[in-house]
Amino acid sequence: MQAAKRTSIIRPCLQHVTGLKNRKIAAIAALWFASIAAGVEIADAASDDWRVSVIDQVEKLHHVDDANALQIGRFAEIGFQEINSSRLLQERLRNAGFDVKSGVAGMPTAFIATYGKEGPVVGFLAEYDALAGFSQTKDPVRTAIEGKSAGHACGHNLLGSGAVLAAVATKEWITANNVKGIIKVFGTPAEEGGGGKVYFARDGLLDGVDVMMNWHPDSYNGSITKSNLAMIAGKFRFYGYSTHASAFPQNGRSALDGVEAMNMMANMMREHIEEKSRIHYAITQTNKAPNVIPDFAEVFYFVRNPEALKTQQLWERVVKAAEGAALGTGTTVEHEIISGHYGYLANTALARVTHANMLHVGGVEYSESEITFARNITKTFPNSAPDMSRAVQIQPLEINPSDIWTGSSDVGDVSWLVPTNWVRTATYVPGTSAHSWQSVAASNTSIGLKGMHVAAKTMALTAVELMKTPELLDEIRTEFDERRGPGYKYVSLIGERSPPLDYMK
Ligand SMILES: [Zn+2]
Repeated sequence: MQAAKRTSIIRPCLQHVTGLKNRKIAAIAALWFASIAAGVEIADAASDDWRVSVIDQVEKLHHVDDANALQIGRFAEIGFQEINSSRLLQERLRNAGFDVKSGVAGMPTAFIATYGKEGPVVGFLAEYDALAGFSQTKDPVRTAIEGKSAGHACGHNLLGSGAVLAAVATKEWITANNVKGIIKVFGTPAEEGGGGKVYFARDGLLDGVDVMMNWHPDSYNGSITKSNLAMIAGKFRFYGYSTHASAFPQNGRSALDGVEAMNMMANMMREHIEEKSRIHYAITQTNKAPNVIPDFAEVFYFVRNPEALKTQQLWERVVKAAEGAALGTGTTVEHEIISGHYGYLANTALARVTHANMLHVGGVEYSESEITFARNITKTFPNSAPDMSRAVQIQPLEINPSDIWTGSSDVGDVSWLVPTNWVRTATYVPGTSAHSWQSVAASNTSIGLKGMHVAAKTMALTAVELMKTPELLDEIRTEFDERRGPGYKYVSLIGERSPPLDYMK
């Protein structure tokens, strides 16, 4: 906490320096400030040249990835259907000299791209799935694109392209500077509910990776050390007997009654679960006409808790509620686990390296036209927005790995197998929530691209630093082993199921 406090004190000075547009001076100053924040000796300015050249490498390359991010934004393909988006990223990596294997872990839109033969293995996580129901132009007013139903409301068009940009920049830099290292880009489909990364984890495709670079679009810049919630998502399908609802109701058995009885029990259960647990559901299929007793109804449940084991236990209680509901309503029920993942296991040693590098990069500076866009977006918020300067600030590093933020991601499983960082950058206008039309709009503008560059530079710097200084990896590994505990064995929460390739159909 002490280091975090110091960082926040020096931040205004740092912004001033980054505003000079002289990257070398800014980088040297940033290193100095970061050194003070970390309570270490001030580094020799000359030793910082490599950082300037890694950042320059991203600057030289990003026009290709900018075009890809905007194209993937236009494709807006949903989970496991990201055929064109995945192909575009694979082509980019193949053209940059990576060896690409596609269709891995039983997912046609998944891939692994590898470069290098020896040295530390650094992975990069790429996502590229869109969200259904978020068709939106890049304008700062709610406007759907005709004929489109999905949009990148979680900014995954930037996420995938930014990860690839960072990987290619790292490759170019280590090749030019004779640094040993192996780079692996993991193309992971269907983050939004399909849990693509869990299949990489379960099938052993992450074996041998020393450290994972991971980022997500957001409305601020920072490096996260908080955990999040483990989650199990599954569908309950009730079967009844259909009759005319007025003429012969006595002969019918309503599948919807089964769903409603289950939901009532789950809602009563809320009083008797742990505070940080979550249960939510959507009725995804039932009758369309009130005068028909439905013979089929389906409800989709998400169950969450900070711990994977407790999530499983809560899930079992929800399954019991389904069975009880079926018994009482004269219906039958079956369920299918669609996805399940762990909470994020933070690594503070890795977060410190990542954060120091982000300070060198600086945040997102808006042009005049971007300020106008941001003001127009801000006007559409129901509540007052934080100050726009948040986009240029780097949030202080808060070391609190046992704290929880109440989302979930399939990154969780990766983080229990490989030390994984979590960079967030301001690709959205400050105050924007993910999964909103405002986040789709920003993800397809220069604001989104600038945030993506901050992430790519931070990850490329961190990857290069870890390859140049393998002792840092030892420190990261020691913390990783301590946090997992002795004899840790990963068991996925999805059992033996194959990827739910049709879960969005
Ligand atoms: Zn996301």
